[in-house]
Amino acid sequence: MCGIIGYCSKKQNAKDIAIAGLKNLEYRGYDSAGIATCENNTIKLYKSKGKISNLEEKLNKVEIQSSTAIAHTRWATHGEPSETNAHPHKVGSVTLVHNGIIENYIELKNFLKNKEVTFKSSTDTEVACAYINYIYQKSNDKNKLHILKTACNEFRGSYAFSIIFDDEPNTIYATRKDSPLIVGLNDDGNFSASDVSAILEFTNKYILLEYGEYAKITSNDVQIFNENLEPIEKEIKIADWNATEYKKNGYEHYMLKEINEQPEVVEKLFKSYFANEDYLGVNISNYSEIHIVACGSAMHAGMVGKYLFENFASIPVTVEIASEYRYKKQLITPTTLVIIISQSGETADSLAALRIAKEHGAKVLAIVNATRL
Ligand code: GLU
Repeated sequence: MCGIIGYCSKKQNAKDIAIAGLKNLEYRGYDSAGIATCENNTIKLYKSKGKISNLEEKLNKVEIQSSTAIAHTRWATHGEPSETNAHPHKVGSVTLVHNGIIENYIELKNFLKNKEVTFKSSTDTEVACAYINYIYQKSNDKNKLHILKTACNEFRGSYAFSIIFDDEPNTIYATRKDSPLIVGLNDDGNFSASDVSAILEFTNKYILLEYGEYAKITSNDVQIFNENLEPIEKEIKIADWNATEYKKNGYEHYMLKEINEQPEVVEKLFKSYFANEDYLGVNISNYSEIHIVACGSAMHAGMVGKYLFENFASIPVTVEIASEYRYKKQLITPTTLVIIISQSGETADSLAALRIAKEHGAKVLAIVNATRL
């Protein structure tokens, strides 16, 4: 998990808003942070290893008036945590931040190396950036959406991108596949972000970007396009939850906060889900077996669940790690209930297992500790 926030501002405060938003994403965990700002139509990059406060120290040494910014907290998957590997990456005319993993990056990197492209970092993200720039430079059609679609068609894996092109420095282009991204709307400007909590202190209006959709964001306007690049109307959702829920609220770190909040959370869950008869729309007595599928601590929580279900409902339960479950033969019957557990709701293997279970016709119940999108 890592975080993205982009902001196109009607004022010159994009850097400050983006950094405030980035801090709201700290709960997602990260090892480095960075921001690209548009200052007088020029893109500048600032990055630091470690905490966002290190980045802030750097930013405080310079006077920055910025109309647009894209910022990122990185959780390294390819290349060590370092300033060079931190996002944003800039190659030629393209600057971007990325959430996710480009699985075929070696193939693309070799292709680009043959075209004399050189790389500074060890990341898959810089390869994606270089590939978009490559398509942009060689294409006669400079329509950014066409360029992005052509490039993204070649990317395998998961991504949420927020992108700025040098010749259109006050526009953020955004798209996603298997990593989350929303678009936030405000009178003073518009956002791209990993989740609503990043922007909740500025606005509660947002649009959910679906897989394969593209957003073109400026300070005055937001346009969304489907995978065929046709403009589409999307519902503007209103978040009715409280920005302070996502702060550390005096706790030293988020894990401590989550542990201490458990009684309150359980009470809330009982109130909202057990108030009516249909209990999440799942009547457990309709199922002859349960597969609990998850990773890491969520899987251990599932093991506790196994004993509870078997003790109280006498239904056989298997608990499996999602990274195995997704690749093995599926023994799913019409009376199998699959329960996916993921703290973030973004665990790649658990999401893949969820899709596979659905493809096999299973009833799927997901338990996540994430914003109600
Ligand atoms: N795979 C990218 C990297 O290692 C992005 C990681 C992330 O999602 O923070 O830089």
